[in-house]
Amino acid sequence: MALTYIGTRDAKIRAAASEAILRGICPDGGLYIPEEIPEMGKTLEELAKLDYRQLAFEVLRLYLDFTDEELRACIMGAYDEKFDTPKIVPVVKKGDALFLELFHGRTLAFKDMALSILPYLMKTAAKKQGLEKEIVILTATSGDTGKAALEGFAGVEGTRIMVFFPEDGVSPVQKLQMTTQEGENTCVVGIKGNFDDAQSAVKSIFTDKALAAELDAKGYCFSSANSINIGRLVPQIVYYFWAYLRAAEMGEIKLGEELNFTVPTGNFGDILAGWYAMKMGLPVGHFVCASNDNKVLYDFFRTGTYDRNRAFHVTISPSMDILISSNLERLLCHMGGQEKTGAEMESLAKNGTYTAEITEKRMSGEFATERETAEAIRAFYEGTGYVMDTHTAVAYAAYKKYQAESGDMRPMVIVSTASPYKFTKDVMTALDAKYAEGDAFALMSELEKAAGVAVPQPIRGLEQREIRHRNVCEKGEIKDVVKNWLK
Ligand SMILES: *Cc1c(COP(=O)(O)O)cnc(C)c1O
Repeated sequence: MALTYIGTRDAKIRAAASEAILRGICPDGGLYIPEEIPEMGKTLEELAKLDYRQLAFEVLRLYLDFTDEELRACIMGAYDEKFDTPKIVPVVKKGDALFLELFHGRTLAFKDMALSILPYLMKTAAKKQGLEKEIVILTATSGDTGKAALEGFAGVEGTRIMVFFPEDGVSPVQKLQMTTQEGENTCVVGIKGNFDDAQSAVKSIFTDKALAAELDAKGYCFSSANSINIGRLVPQIVYYFWAYLRAAEMGEIKLGEELNFTVPTGNFGDILAGWYAMKMGLPVGHFVCASNDNKVLYDFFRTGTYDRNRAFHVTISPSMDILISSNLERLLCHMGGQEKTGAEMESLAKNGTYTAEITEKRMSGEFATERETAEAIRAFYEGTGYVMDTHTAVAYAAYKKYQAESGDMRPMVIVSTASPYKFTKDVMTALDAKYAEGDAFALMSELEKAAGVAVPQPIRGLEQREIRHRNVCEKGEIKDVVKNWLK
């Protein structure tokens, strides 16, 4: 029996999975969470024999109201040759850590794991709900979601996709990946603001009833490709099981022993998926929630107070430059219930801060400064020859701090969220300061030499592609831009 989703601010808001996927967000601005987290229901020994697609099937079937046939079609459409390895997600041991390489999809970031399947989930959900309207996907991005969502939805019949990214807050490769996007149903807009501005504007559009009615009359409905959508979150649970099973296969743990994870975190979607995996029965020892200088989550895990009233830093790990981590709301609700969560979110909206009781003891925060991040890339490369991207390096540095503080020596998986090629310039500069003046694209061949990994096919020749999207708007204009595009 498929499970029901309920709101984080009101348990009376209930929806089947397909409805929650189409809506993206609850009508009151809360997020959908599973009413009960399902148990895995299969032993680790049984799961160990499955390939990535089969494993995805076993996990997703517990969360979706799809038939087996529908679900298989979604999975087969998503996890295919778009990934540059038949394993889909390699797990490699380097130095004193296991790296869960989630960046082998088309846009070279872990967002591909969920966004290559989301369009299929959405189309299936629309069919199940008898929705005749054109679905307009509104997306706020800190750099990686945008391209992954564009790649997923470009050319998908019955959908349109709009992406808002911080004009001055993404890497050169990230920016060109988005502004060169093809497809009649795509629209990419830079905003003069940061990710939080974009996400807040998009969230308020989702709950704008007058606008919804206006668009409804025109035959449109909105949905979200951000991790506020459970259709984003649920596919991410799969790779935590996958990492665990591969670690066992590699002899790093025995099936049943506990494994730790460090997750480079921004909007808290990736790590929350891991937490769901643990609640489903995966033997996880500890989660380290890794932040960069925007360490609002680190402070929260230390003090119980979440406070976004602070300077926003643009860092070399831009996909984590976030001060309002939306998915934390879900963990708060699982820990404290709807009433407390509603009050906390109201306080966040009003005062930018709230205090909550953290009952989850298997998760804590660490952070890495810019220098520590760069130093982690350099030292790890010297020791192992392996080149981490800047986000993965934040996680690695956080892991070492956690280990030094806690003495916890259980094996560690570093959730590796992007290819170093997406952040060529900062990665190369970390390896040697002489590259600081270089051009991000010219440096790709240097990185190729250093890493011994060829420039990934999807970004070869990127700098020569035609720029198709040049729109830039003020953060207050986002709603008008949306309306205009849908005229
Ligand atoms: C999005 C992103 C993150 C942060 O993931 P969340 O789910 O938002 O916490 C980390 N690293 C990279 C490369 C990303 O693209």
